[in-house]
Amino acid sequence: MVKNILNNQFLLKKQKLVKMKNEKKVPQKTNGKMAVSTGGNAPEGLHKFFVDGLKDIYWAEKALTKAIPKMIKNATSAELRDALTNHLEETKGQVTRLEEVFTNLEERAVAKKCDAMEGLIKEAEGIMSETDKGSMRDAGIIAAGQKVEHYEIATYGTLAAYAGLLGLQEVQSLLHESLAEEKAADEKLTEVTERAVMASSETEEQEA
Ligand code: FE
Ligand code: ZN
Ligand code: FE
Ligand code: FE
Repeated sequence: MVKNILNNQFLLKKQKLVKMKNEKKVPQKTNGKMAVSTGGNAPEGLHKFFVDGLKDIYWAEKALTKAIPKMIKNATSAELRDALTNHLEETKGQVTRLEEVFTNLEERAVAKKCDAMEGLIKEAEGIMSETDKGSMRDAGIIAAGQKVEHYEIATYGTLAAYAGLLGLQEVQSLLHESLAEEKAADEKLTEVTERAVMASSETEEQEA
């Protein structure tokens, strides 16, 4: 293990030296004007790691456009359904925004399976099938949904920071837009919990 790490560090240093020899400033298109990337001090490999991360969240967002409708169908509280419906629209916009990011980077928009999001979606499906429709399933949907939002917040936070290190200001501001939407969606779900879960449990008691 330690040996591997040392080997990797050695390889990274070696790659860095090779890179330094061949280093050219990569021109970057910005609104038709050519801008020079200021990411020259970023470590070797960060750009590729960054693009891989974009492909991962691209897969995740696309998977969510299919998963959120199932959550809406399973939700009882109108407020929860509204919150999810609103975020479904935002999510579709985030897919498009990522495509803008790929275009800006002159990379092909390729989705690479995100194991973490696949797991989070599976967990949401499990909760929905294990609970009775009503306030407890709503609570489960919110809990699972917030785990999804937190994963997305972590991902966009990291990617936006990398974009900054790589000197990709336009891309960074696009990622910050999605990051803000994920944070707002998370906060909205926290608000909904109180009213949806507590209020609907009162209704259920009355109905019983
Ligand atoms: Fe998202
Ligand atoms: Zn992911
Ligand atoms: Fe992932
Ligand atoms: Fe989200």
